[in-house]
Amino acid sequence: MECRDIIVDLWSSYIGSDALLQPLWDRMRINYRDYLRSPLFPIVLTVSSYFVLCLPFLVCDIMGDKWAWVQQFKIQPNRRPTASMLLHCAGVTLYNHVFLVFPASVAQWVWRPPVDLPDKAPSLLELIAGVIGNLLLFDFQYFIWHLLHHKICWLYVTFHAIHHKYSAPFALATQCLGGWELVTVGFWTTLNPVILRCHLLTTWAFMVLHVYVSIEDHCGYDFPWSTSRLIPFGIYGGPSKHDVHHQKPNSNFAPHFSHWDKIFGTHADFSFSTAMKRKAL
Ligand SMILES: [Zn+2]
Ligand SMILES: [Zn+2]
Repeated sequence: MECRDIIVDLWSSYIGSDALLQPLWDRMRINYRDYLRSPLFPIVLTVSSYFVLCLPFLVCDIMGDKWAWVQQFKIQPNRRPTASMLLHCAGVTLYNHVFLVFPASVAQWVWRPPVDLPDKAPSLLELIAGVIGNLLLFDFQYFIWHLLHHKICWLYVTFHAIHHKYSAPFALATQCLGGWELVTVGFWTTLNPVILRCHLLTTWAFMVLHVYVSIEDHCGYDFPWSTSRLIPFGIYGGPSKHDVHHQKPNSNFAPHFSHWDKIFGTHADFSFSTAMKRKAL
């Protein structure tokens, strides 16, 4: 079989067809139908993903010097979160969940009818394209929102300043947010897959990935498997770029990709002195 035939076969059997995801989708639809149809499911999925995905980074913070191999990847090695910082962020997150996420969940449960589950699964290509499309759209929306909240003093002080309490971010600081910011982010994350007419499986994949990359942006570690290292040519910002935003708040406003900051002249690279400090550890 020639290489071209193998590629064509691979494309028609897996990437471009629904054959790969259909068995998974069928099993989900048949076994968990009532849970998946509930308007509460996306909220439970994102909230539980947040706490589960924060946990490994939180353990790295708590273990500190006992895990020297991990600490070599700390972006600001001399600035580790203290117990009171972790507790403050946990408190803000708990407050937001009790007074915003929980009432929003009850409202969804009461007013929104259960969603219909389509019979057909998306192809792998549709799922990947949908997830990338959602990340790009959110990146644009949040870039504008973020830029305005830094440039207009009233917006910064009233809504965004709480997120800049820590100039050396850590995983739990991801949702150390004011209520307005949490509502806006939740609104776009819910609306964008509807605008892009995504399959529910694509929507849920985007939501979980979005939670992960947001935590990774704030984790304080630049691991060799960081998204920015896996995606070439500096296309993706990742933890080191967002860490720079927390150190120099007039740079790197985009949450995911680098292009908007490059276009608007607000892009800043990870500083050389910080890199040297990390190497010297
Ligand atoms: Zn941040
Ligand atoms: Zn900011």
